[in-house]
Amino acid sequence: MIIGWYNTYMNKQNKELKKAGLKATLPRIKIMEILASTAIQEEAHFSAEDIYKELLNNGENIGLASVYRVLTQFESAGMVKKHHFEGSHAVYEVIEENHEHMVDVETGKVLEFQDAALIEKLNKVANDAGYQLVDHNLVLHVKKI
Ligand SMILES: [Zn+2]
Repeated sequence: MIIGWYNTYMNKQNKELKKAGLKATLPRIKIMEILASTAIQEEAHFSAEDIYKELLNNGENIGLASVYRVLTQFESAGMVKKHHFEGSHAVYEVIEENHEHMVDVETGKVLEFQDAALIEKLNKVANDAGYQLVDHNLVLHVKKI
């Protein structure tokens, strides 16, 4: 059962890589695995160093330079998105459902949220200006009440 699940899981990473036109090398699979397995809320944003440390914890011998290289390849392939949140170094996350971010200015914690009405409004703003919305970049800077 566990082997079956693992194969299915690895196939998923493989497919993701193929779809992006990247060969399924071990570093790419391992890094994709880390990005995908923890794609939950606040834990979904990783720096290259975070990924490097996680690989070390898993006993994988992949250098920090390789991690940077693979992340850049993933970014060019449209598999991950790079963010520069306030005061932090670059973090990466798997591109999944659209969501927005808010950053707690006191703790640096990154929260995700979704708001369909907000997207509708953004579309309208673009349309009213004679444009079609193709992407947007929105980060709320927040402080606990
Ligand atoms: Zn996010």
